[in-house]
Amino acid sequence: MTEPQIVFIGAGNMARALISGMRQQGIAGPNIQVHAPSNLHRGALAEEFGVRSCPAQAEKLPENSVVIYAAKPKQMPAVLKEWRDSLRSASALFVSVAAGISSAQITTLLGEETPVVRAMPNTPAQIGAGATSLFATATVSANQCDTVQQIFAGVGKVFWLHDEALMDTATALAGSGPAYVLLFLEALEDAAVLQGLDRVTARALALQTVLGTAQMAAANSASPSELRHQVTSPGGTTAAGLAVWEEQLRPLAQRALAAAAERGRILS
Ligand code: NAP
Repeated sequence: MTEPQIVFIGAGNMARALISGMRQQGIAGPNIQVHAPSNLHRGALAEEFGVRSCPAQAEKLPENSVVIYAAKPKQMPAVLKEWRDSLRSASALFVSVAAGISSAQITTLLGEETPVVRAMPNTPAQIGAGATSLFATATVSANQCDTVQQIFAGVGKVFWLHDEALMDTATALAGSGPAYVLLFLEALEDAAVLQGLDRVTARALALQTVLGTAQMAAANSASPSELRHQVTSPGGTTAAGLAVWEEQLRPLAQRALAAAAERGRILS
């Protein structure tokens, strides 16, 4: 693609993950600029990835810019007040990764005509294994959709949603999901240690089991349920373990996703 100038507002965890992925995909460091109040994180990004480090204040943007909002959702009104004129005069595409902020809230701040894409990436983006849900408003052109697709496809898999209301669910599932999987890994590790396995082996076994199973499921056209039944003999060890998981796991997953989605709505 003709590389647009990619401007990050915010230099924290998500900006780092995306920049790391973009750099691995060959997007040149000088084509990425990062704005944040302190030099702490943006300075580190500049040093590590060769991106341009800029103070938080808005600046004149080149045409064809893509501005990625990666600061906290609560800060958006104040930050966009400052960036609004630069964004409008460059007809920049505005991409928000802020959880729970609707496109209507964003266009209220920036103007109805502003092309807005909501993106919900997750932290495995930093190793190119992210899952990003995207939603585009009607003012986003097909070319702009292609640009966003290419940016986020560089850091993992991309899923376009056509109903914005489902962004909260996608956030609860994939945005917060890496933390759920990490908690699951911790729980498996701790349970094995309780039974006497040393921690290093327990951690490595839990990790390889989750990794290998996810890779197997991704490589197989059968559903997770079908694959699970294939490895579950009646009366066997897996059946005994699954019976315990089944008591709680599905209602827990429903409650966890509902709580995360609701929190996203409250934070917005
Ligand atoms: P974070 O690590 O706390 O980073 C926030 C960044 O915003 C910091 O670099 C901070 O600057 C910067 N900032 C604060 N005020 C600013 C201003 N006025 N102008 C420009 N930058 C400003 O947060 P995060 O975890 O990366 O989350 C960022 C966004 O990504 C949030 O909207 C969140 O909803 C979304 N998100 C996060 C995840 C995730 O897994 N972390 C997943 C999906 C979506 P300093 O460096 O000076 O402190």
